[in-house]
Amino acid sequence: MIIEKYEAKSLIRTSKRSPHHIHLNIYQGCFHNCSYCDGKSEEYFMHDDYNNKIRAKINAPELLEKYLINKGFLPINREKTNTLLDFIPQSNRKKISCDNPKFIINIFGNICDVYQPAEAELTITRKVLQVAYDYGFPVRILTKNALVLRDIDLIKKINQDTFARVAFTITLSNQQEQLIFEPNASSTNERLSALNKFREEGISAGGYITPVIPWIGDTKTNLMELFQRLKDARADFVITGGLTLKPGRNKEDFLKIIGEHYPELLILYDELYRNNSIYGQPDMEIWGKCKLLNPIKQGYQMSKEYGINFFEPRYIPEGTLRTNLEMATILSRIAFLMGEIYEESWQKAYKIREAAIELENNPSDISLMKFDEILTLPYEKHVFRHIIEILQTRKSSYLIKKEDNSQLFVINDDFFSKNSPSLR
Ligand code: SF4
Repeated sequence: MIIEKYEAKSLIRTSKRSPHHIHLNIYQGCFHNCSYCDGKSEEYFMHDDYNNKIRAKINAPELLEKYLINKGFLPINREKTNTLLDFIPQSNRKKISCDNPKFIINIFGNICDVYQPAEAELTITRKVLQVAYDYGFPVRILTKNALVLRDIDLIKKINQDTFARVAFTITLSNQQEQLIFEPNASSTNERLSALNKFREEGISAGGYITPVIPWIGDTKTNLMELFQRLKDARADFVITGGLTLKPGRNKEDFLKIIGEHYPELLILYDELYRNNSIYGQPDMEIWGKCKLLNPIKQGYQMSKEYGINFFEPRYIPEGTLRTNLEMATILSRIAFLMGEIYEESWQKAYKIREAAIELENNPSDISLMKFDEILTLPYEKHVFRHIIEILQTRKSSYLIKKEDNSQLFVINDDFFSKNSPSLR
């Protein structure tokens, strides 16, 4: 592994679709070398030798601090600042803190793992966490490396001050298989044991089963074992997602590994991803012919069976409009069930999801609006029906009915991939 340290110009990624979050890519490149890694896709303009040359933004803590200062925030938890802040007792500092809404600092990105081996020596992620703590900001972390346990002291302090969550991507229960696809990450055992330690410390922690690898990760044994082990580790949520293979390095590297270790599946993968979708989506016609199930539906149903939340429980940052965000969360959940799980209407689900994003960005508190004002919001009729009901009752009858329907799919052998798959 070659580590190249450099002073980056930018670090923070924001999105209108998720205005109460910022994302940080502290490194470029990732030594974990997962064969399905999307980060090496040409669309991100990463360097060659993505898995062996790790570019480290050594000034990431300073860049984050500069960003927070520009937004008007102060290092209220820092012991020594050499400013007037030092003369204000710690207990009063929150009162002089700026009124701007806070956001969640997501210490992860799609082009690196922030706890990959280089971090053991460089400690940039730890310094970034320290800045988040100093300025009183909540954090979320997503990793495949148990090195995150090194920072449990700091993560605990952040959790006591505001909020911290640690998620682990976990894809394969069998260690031999896991090593084929994620050769340099911590083992599934190590990740689950780290998850359990965070839960013991009262920190929210859960699992991302992404990607569910067709014919390998979507088998009965793998999925049942992963859900059981997540339950045993007391994960407070689980999320599942499918495999995308974007044309170029992403797809080529993955198919190379399939050819080496599962040659009998190569023809199926070739067919399944023959459409070369720029988003890496499989060809749904072939998907149907192969009788593969939607991994999100699989995960949703299994989360019910195992009694684990499907979706991360939401943390609402200080200074944000609570009713708007709670309403947006319920609307997103309705859109998810309507579009992804029950497949009732993609168009309706899309409009509800857009309304949720609009509410997240709306600077006016919807709970203080008059009925006439609410009706001027740019939503469609069916969206208003949900909004009015949620405002009046604080719940959604649609959601209650659908979430209670535990018999959505029967989990039998047809629910999982077959041992000898075919296109017929
Ligand atoms: S841990 Fe994430 S970023 Fe790193 S190689 Fe694996 S998929 Fe890519």
